[in-house]
Formats: sequence, structure tokens, C-alpha cells
Amino acid sequence: MFKILRILFLLLVLMSVWGTYRMQQTVAKDWSGVVSIKVIPVLADDHASTRTFVNSLKRKDFKEVTQYLNQSAEHYGRDLSHVIELELAEPIDSIPPNLPEVGAGKLAHIIWSLKLRWWAWNNQLNDHEDYHIRLFMLYQSPAEGVQLRHSTGLRNGLIGLINVRALAPNKRFHNVVLTHELLHIFGASDKYDTRTGEPHYPEGYVQPNAKPLWPQQHAEIMGRARALSQDQHEVAERLSHTRLSELTASEIGWTHSAN
Ligand SMILES: [Zn+2]
Repeated sequence: MFKILRILFLLLVLMSVWGTYRMQQTVAKDWSGVVSIKVIPVLADDHASTRTFVNSLKRKDFKEVTQYLNQSAEHYGRDLSHVIELELAEPIDSIPPNLPEVGAGKLAHIIWSLKLRWWAWNNQLNDHEDYHIRLFMLYQSPAEGVQLRHSTGLRNGLIGLINVRALAPNKRFHNVVLTHELLHIFGASDKYDTRTGEPHYPEGYVQPNAKPLWPQQHAEIMGRARALSQDQHEVAERLSHTRLSELTASEIGWTHSAN
């Protein structure tokens, strides 16, 4: 009996992997079809304040994400106004499996991604037919006081796990993190030092040829922060404080150099 169940499970996982793989062939590759994004709020703790915050979320809180992407795409001569669709799902209180520790091997990542698929399937979240990309927003009360885990966006899996504080004044910052992880799913790479948070030069700079070089006017969305001087930087708290550079645009296939 166990053996049959195990084989069935493996088959399901394989089907899901194959489905995602096929989806990746079309999603955000040539930007010709609709890209559906589902934002799923997760109650990451049982604080009443977290629940109040999550229940207050509206679809319009995330509207600036599509606006930002559309405007950025327009800058590169792309009209995405009918391409990117973002929906807000009902909140859930089941937490996805934790990411492997930093520096964990490839096997740990494979196991994690299988666990994640199993978890999603158990939570009836395997509706890839309708939704291409799923972004889980893990809201946690500041009262928890624990450090937030790293957010991540997986191209292979079309899934994002975004760890944020359930604080109303942070809503616009949440959209910066969400967009950054979403762009990872589209194929963009990080352009900052994960240890210090400093944007890399020149790829993490919006204007790497500016004279004077500092302070930079905007943060590159994948560089997270704008450099103020050689050793100072300021993390972008709103999407309007960021720009999407030519390099990022080419990584996600908006410009020809990526094809
Ligand atoms: Zn990143």
C-alpha cells in the first residue's frame, strides 16, 4: 500500500514538474501571452494584529506593481498593459516549508522544492491551469521580534516566498520586495552584495556613468538600494524610488539582447 502511495506521489510530483516546465516555455519568455500572477496572503503567526492586517488587504494595494511593470516596459518599447494580470487570493494560514539554510547544497534545494510542491498541492494551490505565478506573502507581526527569513523568487517553480512585517505603513515597501522577487521569477539576477546590502557597481546602479557618481537618484530594482556615497546606501522603500535597468530588462527578455 505504502509503495503504491509513494509511486503515486512521485508521479504527481513529476506531472507537476513537467507542467511547470511547459509553463516556463511560455510564461514571460516572449511576453506575447497573458502572465497571470496570484498573490496569496499567508498568516505566518497567530497574532491578532497580523490577522487584522491581512484582512485589510485589498487588490488595489498591489496595483502599483502592475503599473510599475507596465511603465518600465513602456520605457523599453513594450506594451504590457494587457499582459500582466495580478489577482489577490483569499488568505491562508498554512505556512510553506522553510527555505534551506544559506549555503545548503543542491540536494537540499531539490528536497525543499519537492516539499513546497507537496505543501501547495495539500493546500489546493496547484491551480497552475489558471495561474502562472504564485506569490506567497508571509505576513508576520512585528511583535514576534524575530528576524525575517530571506524572501525568494524561484524561476524554476514559478513561485515566490516573500517575508514581510504585517505593518500598514510598510505596504508600499512590500511592493518593492514583491516586484524584486517577481523579477527573479522572470529571470532577473540580484545586483547587490547579499552580505552588506550594497548595490554592485556598475550593474546595480541606474546611472553608472553619472558625474558625480554619488548620490545615485534611484535604486536599481534588483540592486535594492541607491548608493549615496562609496560606502553608504539607502534601501528603496517605494517602487517610485527605483528604476528597472537595461541589464535587468534584457535578462527578463524585454530587449533583444536577451534573445
Ligand atoms: Zn533578489
